[in-house]
Formats: sequence, C-alpha cells, structure tokens
Amino acid sequence: MPTTSLPNGPIAAKQATDPHHAVWTLLEGVTDPEIPVVSLREMGVLRAVREGADGVLEVVITPTYSGCPAMEQMGDDVRAALAQAGLTARVVTQLAPAWSTEWMTPEGREKLRAYGIAPPPVGTGSACGHSVVQFATRNLAKSVRQTVACPQCGSENTTEISHFGSTACKALYKCLDCFEPFDYFKPY
Ligand SMILES: [Zn+2]
Repeated sequence: MPTTSLPNGPIAAKQATDPHHAVWTLLEGVTDPEIPVVSLREMGVLRAVREGADGVLEVVITPTYSGCPAMEQMGDDVRAALAQAGLTARVVTQLAPAWSTEWMTPEGREKLRAYGIAPPPVGTGSACGHSVVQFATRNLAKSVRQTVACPQCGSENTTEISHFGSTACKALYKCLDCFEPFDYFKPY
C-alpha cells in the first residue's frame, strides 16, 4: 500500500477532478464543534480523504490539540454527514505532524473574525517546521506582532484579560476602544 503523505499546510477546496470530490463537498458542511461557522477543512483539521488498504473510505483528521474534548464529536459529525449520503467511512486520527493554526485557511480566519474571534496572524503558528531559522523568525514575528486587532471595530488598542478564554486554545481580550471583550485564537 502506498504511503500517503499529507500536505503540511492549509488544504484548499478540492477540484472536481479529485476522485473524492463528492466526499470533500459533503464534509464542507461539517463544522468545528466549538466554532460552528468554520468547517473542519477551513480549520485545517480535515487532512485527507482516501481509500484504505481494505477499500474502505478513510477520512483523516488531526485534532486541534491533543485531549481536545471536541475530538470525538468531530469524528461522529464526519461519519454522520457521510452516512446521510449513504457512505460509510472510517475516521483516522493522525497526531503527527501536530495541528497548527498555520493550517487554517484564509476563509477560515476571516470567518473567525466575522464570528467575533480574533484569528491568529499567518506565520505565527508552529507548522512552519522546527528549524532554528524558522523558530527565530516566528519568535520575532511574535514579538513584533504583540497587538491583537479587535474583531468588532478593528482597533489594535486591546489588552489581554486572561491567557485562557472560553477554551484553552483561546485567550480573552478586551478592546479599549469599543470596550467589547473577545476571544483571541492563539497561534499554535
Ligand atoms: Zn473594538
């Protein structure tokens, strides 16, 4: 059986030429249990659709972080969406490489913002690899980009209230211009 290597980055919407195009389209309706406006593909959680060695359809997902309580829910949602179309699939959880906010698509980040959650800036996550240069660049980017823009009014005059917001992946921020509190999805 050929080894499937998964792309290490955001996964674009699949073209009609993809043999599993219909499956990708069905799965476009499966959203993140914690952020119902963003699909699993846009989150970068949905990694691949393939045929397993035994011919069974496999859907590969990588959880946003290990121990994420939403993980089982995601697997159930994927199976349910496919079952509605008469398809049986095995959900394969792949933990390596670890999920990163780098895998979020631009549409996903925009939907987060529209939903009221400040998205992580591109280039601040850990999926860029672990070379020294990339680490240095990332840390530099982090120190330069301390400001988190308010998703409501766009102001960068914001402050962190709590490093852990509604979930461990988010920090709670407050805008000092419009005074609205908001979640910031931390780079990971
Ligand atoms: Zn604001």
